[in-house]
Amino acid sequence: MIVRAAWARVRQLGQGVGADNWPRIIQEWLYPPTCLLCGDPGEMGLDLCPACAADLPRIAVACPRCALPLAADAPHWCGRCQIHPPVYSAAHAPLLYHGHNAAGFLVKGLKFARRQACARLLGTLLADSLAGRADPPEALIPVPLHPRRLRKRGFNQALEIARFVSARLEIPLAPDACRRVRDTTAQSSLDSARKRRLNLHQAFQTAPDLAYRHVAVIDDVLTTGTTATELARTLRRAGVEKVEIWTCARAG
Ligand SMILES: [Zn+2]
Ligand SMILES: [Zn+2]
Repeated sequence: MIVRAAWARVRQLGQGVGADNWPRIIQEWLYPPTCLLCGDPGEMGLDLCPACAADLPRIAVACPRCALPLAADAPHWCGRCQIHPPVYSAAHAPLLYHGHNAAGFLVKGLKFARRQACARLLGTLLADSLAGRADPPEALIPVPLHPRRLRKRGFNQALEIARFVSARLEIPLAPDACRRVRDTTAQSSLDSARKRRLNLHQAFQTAPDLAYRHVAVIDDVLTTGTTATELARTLRRAGVEKVEIWTCARAG
């Protein structure tokens, strides 16, 4: 009886989908999506309910170079990028970050609690905000952690997000394209732009056989842009012509 009911539920979930979707369907039946923000049932296979999806702190208008949220009637580039354009050619973030909003909750959840579920939701939101764009990058490069930090934390949150973006947008993941060769102090503990720059100076090294023309660097949050700048500079030095920064959220 239980088996028959289970099979009926699996068939119901599977109606109208191809055979390659069965693993996902079975997973959804075993672990139905649950909103990570309020606990209600999720929708469209995501751990997000429609009400929380509608309430997400989405960025409507942003500077295309640094992803800074802008007013609807603001000039195309923010004032800072007009004077000092960043090393990277574009930056994109679908959500506005601060410590106490939904984006902050998911980013912290990824680091400290429901790692896989938060990475899947953040990665999917990032991928969906970029779907259908012309001129996609050849590869996705997650911001690397130093091996010592990786051992301590057990995982790299940028890589966890990048896996879902890669699968959803069908862009290859290149986790070994770049390594962090200096174990730097956490950027958030440094109080000046100069200290943050010095802290990351020559922190990254690219693989010797790197042969991309266009890549996107993946991270959870874009804050001051110091990490993105140093990594983009390293990639540009290695011959990459176009470096984009794709993050789930942007600090305002
Ligand atoms: Zn919800
Ligand atoms: Zn800007």
